[in-house]
Amino acid sequence: MSLQIYIDGQWYSKENAKISVFDHGLLYGDGVFEGLRSYGGKVFRMKEHLDRLYDSARSIFLTVPISPEVMEAAVYETLRLNNLTDGYVRLIVTRGVGDLGLNPNLCPKASVIIIADKISLYPAKLYDEGMEIVTSSTVRNHPAAVNPRIKSLNYLGSILAKIEGLKAGCNEALMLNLNGEVAECTADNIFLIKNGRLATPHVNAGILDGITRRAVIGLAKEAGMDVAETTLTRHDVYVADECFLTGTAAEVIPVIKVDSRPIGDGRVGPITKQLIAAFKGLVAK
Ligand code: PMP
Repeated sequence: MSLQIYIDGQWYSKENAKISVFDHGLLYGDGVFEGLRSYGGKVFRMKEHLDRLYDSARSIFLTVPISPEVMEAAVYETLRLNNLTDGYVRLIVTRGVGDLGLNPNLCPKASVIIIADKISLYPAKLYDEGMEIVTSSTVRNHPAAVNPRIKSLNYLGSILAKIEGLKAGCNEALMLNLNGEVAECTADNIFLIKNGRLATPHVNAGILDGITRRAVIGLAKEAGMDVAETTLTRHDVYVADECFLTGTAAEVIPVIKVDSRPIGDGRVGPITKQLIAAFKGLVAK
């Protein structure tokens, strides 16, 4: 059976799941989204994802037409209809249908779309052996423009950085902020380990406040590690002992080379392995 996709209170088969070409989500990237993941039938950190979605919407004057409770039920129903216990869920709220101008006041009703599908991971080999990334020349959105904490439908900056990464033979790319400090990757947050200490950019560096990031910070603290949310430069990355990325789709993935420089001894480090194992335990709970 074809995928069942939720649009505004009803489910449609993939072939029939369509939105208007006048939707401002398409015309202007005017909308917000979330990526969630279900493990063994339970969505990991559902409340945090819904909070972030509704906060993103609020920040752009977008009224989500359904309550978080109705949204949560619709997410579970979409998973159930697609027989998915372990899957990836994309939640989208668009400004809705308007005219060709920018004016969102002419879009009377926001649209909600929920797509649940199988998870598409990075190749399994990368989790064992680590991945290589490069720094992109595309600067992460300045937080005084559209704050990267808003998970908006406009991902062009990340896409340009992703293209640069792919052209360099890498699956991810590092983005710096306008100060030249480390921000995050195109769809993942970044962590470094130096002398047993964990460090990750502060959200004020202009990054998405990642939910996997939060979970990993929690796990590291529980394990008694020192965690700093701080300013990091490319130099800090190059001289780190270990590096890894976090994200809902990626989970925790090791990085062993950045801009052609091996990180540490160029192999997946022990603390990264420990945190990968801890994260597996956490999502299996
Ligand atoms: N940064 C960006 C730009 C992202 O798109 C994502 C994925 N949503 C992340 C970081 C990781 O965030 P999370 O752990 O909440 O999936």
